Amino acid sequence: MYSLPSRPLFAIAVFAASIACQAHAAEPHVHGQATLDVAVEGQVLAIALASPLDNVFGFERLPRTDAERARVRQAIASLRDGAALFLPSPDADCRLEAAQVHFGALHHGLTGEGEAPRGKPQAEHQHADLDADYRFRCARPEALRSLEVRVFRVFPGVNRIAAQLATDKRQAGATLTPAQPRLRW
Ligand SMILES: [Zn+2]
Repeated sequence: MYSLPSRPLFAIAVFAASIACQAHAAEPHVHGQATLDVAVEGQVLAIALASPLDNVFGFERLPRTDAERARVRQAIASLRDGAALFLPSPDADCRLEAAQVHFGALHHGLTGEGEAPRGKPQAEHQHADLDADYRFRCARPEALRSLEVRVFRVFPGVNRIAAQLATDKRQAGATLTPAQPRLRW
């Protein structure tokens, strides 16, 4: 399920990423905060999460110790487990079809995937973000009324998520917190 994405997923991921850029262009990189773009189109529920790396690793560079490497491995596995991070309305019968996570300039160093970046390595003082895209397919999309975001439970470093929702009927924004982790529509 988590192997190389099919072309349609890539198209959706790029589409979602472009939405994220437009919707959250003004969102600064603030530790503890993240952004979420949720789009429902037909049977597809597409979710794009963007977050400072500090929220999931506790640092924004390559790991230096075995403990840090273990933490990174576990966090990446958790990020790819979209069904544990996002719970759509149960009646909609949604299944996770694909998930992909990208770590910008640190992607190769953190995952071993792709090519090593050329040129100078990233300076230690720079901030770094991750982008994660998830695609669910829902058997009964008409029953889709909410999304419980368990990112707060899995990654306690996240304490606020600015969420944007787009369906064929409405667009809305919401601020999610550990006390109010549910997006409704
Ligand atoms: Zn940062």
